[in-house]
Amino acid sequence: MRILLLSDIHANLEALEACLAAAPSFDLVANLGDIVGYGASPNEVIDRSRSLGKIFVRGNHDKAATGLLDLEDFNTLAATAAIWTRDQLTPAHHEWLVSLPQGPRSLEGFPQAQLVHGSPEDEDAYIVSIGDALVPLLALATPLTFFGHTHLQGGFFANGNSADGFRPEYRTIGQAESVSLQLKPDTRYLINPGSIGQPRDGDWRAAFALFDTDAQVVHFHRAPYNLKAAQDRIFAANLPPRLATRLAAGR
Ligand code: ZN
Repeated sequence: MRILLLSDIHANLEALEACLAAAPSFDLVANLGDIVGYGASPNEVIDRSRSLGKIFVRGNHDKAATGLLDLEDFNTLAATAAIWTRDQLTPAHHEWLVSLPQGPRSLEGFPQAQLVHGSPEDEDAYIVSIGDALVPLLALATPLTFFGHTHLQGGFFANGNSADGFRPEYRTIGQAESVSLQLKPDTRYLINPGSIGQPRDGDWRAAFALFDTDAQVVHFHRAPYNLKAAQDRIFAANLPPRLATRLAAGR
């Protein structure tokens, strides 16, 4: 089975379309949450995400846009975008976002893997460092966890006495590219496909991944997209301009 892993789309329709155009063939889609927030196309991105199906976990921005999460936890930029998003959502899309399940969720037919937005222990926690990753890596019964939330493509592994983080290394800064990771036996992984709509690893290209369960390979991808169109939508929506400019820097 080939599973397309999408995370942190953040209402960036141009980035999502570019990823889908660049993606190799897949059997099913797993969406790790933060479908909305920051970007200017929440309803369009929800429509597209729903049509792709099939497995979802909710993100903190999905909760914030529907009132399930207190905006006190958000910085000004995030809170402004959450309130704007709340006002834009159609009633049907609001209802759909509210009903998104909390992680972790298992993958049907593939019990070795699970999906979360933040961390397996806390859906809103950030796994940024190996220190953050150690407890979930060592405590989990499930050897493979896909997570999002940090907007940083890559992840962490633990094997015997060693544990470390990793990032895919790309050759260019503007082309569509892919880097493969062969999973090793007897190794636990936390893997982040990266953010489609607002990468923060210094690479502006939209990030996603594809997991080939038969080959035990995770293919990390970066796809260039129509950055200017996404930015123009943010300006036109009167969202904070910083939400548009940061996309160019991948921060
Ligand atoms: Zn996010």
